[in-house]
Amino acid sequence: MNQEELNHKLNSTGKGCFVRYFGLFEDFGLSNSEVAKMISNENNYSPQSCLTRVSNARSIINSGCSKRALEIVLKSNASSKTRKRATQLIESLFISEDNDHGIHKKPYHAVFKMPTVSKISSRTSSITNAFINAVVPVIYPDEGEIRQALNILEIKPENVTCSYCGDKATEWDHLRALVKDQRPTGYISEIRNLVPACGKCNQSKGNKPWKEWMTGEAKLSPASRRIPRLQERIIKLEKYEQWGNVKRIDIGALAGNDLWEKHWENWALILDYMKDAQHLAEIIRHKIDQSST
Ligand SMILES: [Zn+2]
Repeated sequence: MNQEELNHKLNSTGKGCFVRYFGLFEDFGLSNSEVAKMISNENNYSPQSCLTRVSNARSIINSGCSKRALEIVLKSNASSKTRKRATQLIESLFISEDNDHGIHKKPYHAVFKMPTVSKISSRTSSITNAFINAVVPVIYPDEGEIRQALNILEIKPENVTCSYCGDKATEWDHLRALVKDQRPTGYISEIRNLVPACGKCNQSKGNKPWKEWMTGEAKLSPASRRIPRLQERIIKLEKYEQWGNVKRIDIGALAGNDLWEKHWENWALILDYMKDAQHLAEIIRHKIDQSST
């Protein structure tokens, strides 16, 4: 709402009226005519005038201009009582928080976070991971290997914790990633390439090299979460790497050229479809935005 429009709506509501009945205007559990009736009972305004005031005041509040409107009242020649009330109302538009440094004020926007709107085409890395996971060999460990793995990491079998951060482990994570530059690295799913991890670490690490990630500032990385005894954990993981001594395999060569090419043709087709689908989704969203404003 531009300044001129705001001034107009505020003046049609009446500055005193806007401030005095702000609580009623803001209470959207009450209909316009209910609020108008309450105002009309306390004043000599005509019923029609009351309805106009309610609708103008609510249009100010609905468009997020309450603070600006109250600031106009503050700077106007309204009565001191009205201006005092406007100051109090401005205060109430913020959240007061007690902390060590006294009372801290923050806007309501600070407590809201819109879920990320993900694009269809931004899912491409999940598709690539799936295409690689689907062909990578999976070798189940025997009991001795599991025992040995936990032993090297100094993790108690009755309380399996994350090798990266020490939280409760919920899964085993590929220490060396399976995917790099949208192709298999040649590492596979075998215990010598897997370590217990928590969901937070697994998600944050993604396909990054483990040591760089642990000590780097990626969101939720152990270093950025200030996890204690990081160096100790790194040394254990280095020992694990030595124990594993895993070799890469050439998955493409093992599959044979024809099959391997076909596999990546499928991948490219799906990615193209996703791009087209995203384009169409944007057209749909644009059309909906246009019709709802
Ligand atoms: Zn962790």
